[in-house]
Amino acid sequence: MSQNHTLTAYDQVKQQIREATDHLDISPIIKDLLNQPKRVLQVSFPVEMDDGSTKLFEGYRAQHLDALGPYKGGLRFHPEVDLEEAKALAMWMTFKCALVQIPHGGGKGGVVCDPNELSDREIKRLSRAFMEAVQDIIGEDKDIMAPDVNTNSTLMGYMMDTYAKRRGGTVPGIITGKPPIVGGSAGRNIATAQGAVYIVNELLNDLNRTKENTTIAVQGFGNGGKIAARLLYDLGYKVIAVSDSKTGLYHKDGLDIPKVQQAKEEGDLALHKNAQRYDHPDDLLYAEADILIPAALDGVIHTENAHDINAEIIVELANGPTTVEGEKILTQKGKLVIPDILANSGGVIVSYLESVQNHMNYYWSEEEVLKQMKERILESYKSILVYVDQYETTYRTAAMIAAIKRVEQAIYARGWV
Ligand code: GLU
Repeated sequence: MSQNHTLTAYDQVKQQIREATDHLDISPIIKDLLNQPKRVLQVSFPVEMDDGSTKLFEGYRAQHLDALGPYKGGLRFHPEVDLEEAKALAMWMTFKCALVQIPHGGGKGGVVCDPNELSDREIKRLSRAFMEAVQDIIGEDKDIMAPDVNTNSTLMGYMMDTYAKRRGGTVPGIITGKPPIVGGSAGRNIATAQGAVYIVNELLNDLNRTKENTTIAVQGFGNGGKIAARLLYDLGYKVIAVSDSKTGLYHKDGLDIPKVQQAKEEGDLALHKNAQRYDHPDDLLYAEADILIPAALDGVIHTENAHDINAEIIVELANGPTTVEGEKILTQKGKLVIPDILANSGGVIVSYLESVQNHMNYYWSEEEVLKQMKERILESYKSILVYVDQYETTYRTAAMIAAIKRVEQAIYARGWV
């Protein structure tokens, strides 16, 4: 995905690791362990299409470091998924889990496909076939998948069932983000966005700013962006711009997000009439908003466009939306970037709480789940502020330092080095 710049997402995460380890006295072998995945699996698997033909699909699962516990991370369906990207995304998961103190390492998977060109039944068969193809390296104590770009709770339910059929018994904790009726957690569907909203509230409080006077632009209208826009709107923030991959909408006084959501459900953001349209959806990145929330793909803010970003605060709801060089430009211009491994960690925190509930076989209310998630995410946010001061660095490098220190401790505790 990483558009308009030469470095891949994998190069980006390695640079982020370097920026953090430059502040630390860390052994070369641990640096080597941090810089590559322990295991990658590439699979190709046939899926029957609705017209009776059979098509071969390619997919990946990357497992980075399991020093803190079993691998954990999403599965995405997208035409531009590739192994390098899966590796990078798995690495970000390791640091995210470490930062927010959950006992997991990083994993990520993807299938190369365009879900817009597949029917629901084809996507169902594809999800089951992918689970069958990777099942040997999946398990509650090995690697636990979850939703990501273009995947959702429905597909997690199907994949849990595929695994159950193979084992001859249901293991709910094999995957998270499932429908609550089969062991999913209350609050998981809103968790990624809700976590970012907790951070935005806290940040504005620290900056003595009010919601009513804060304008927000959200790039991406999927699992993260759509729900973030709605939660922020419901709290009284002015969401002035939203976009999906086809359309960008803008209204200087704030968009009516419930109506925008309705347009999306009817098939197209453009059906929402009470707004101006950007020429290109990504023009939203340059909106005159106080906060920009990139909530789509990686590599969207880079050297060629970082100068044109107007927002003062960038909250990374997507994984890896800002390149290292892009972030340098933003930082030089005095902008604040709240890094992905904090800003979007609400999702994996609630995934962890989901597996805890699966193990107890007892389920909490949404209120209880979100309360626990809020405590964890805000505690991590505060730990980053301490490192920002101590190391005189950016929020990203501070977050990476906090994460790497924990991974390092776990590596020593296991006696790997
Ligand atoms: N895909 C989400 C992420 O990137 C959630 C992963 C999970 O819940 O395991 O953080």
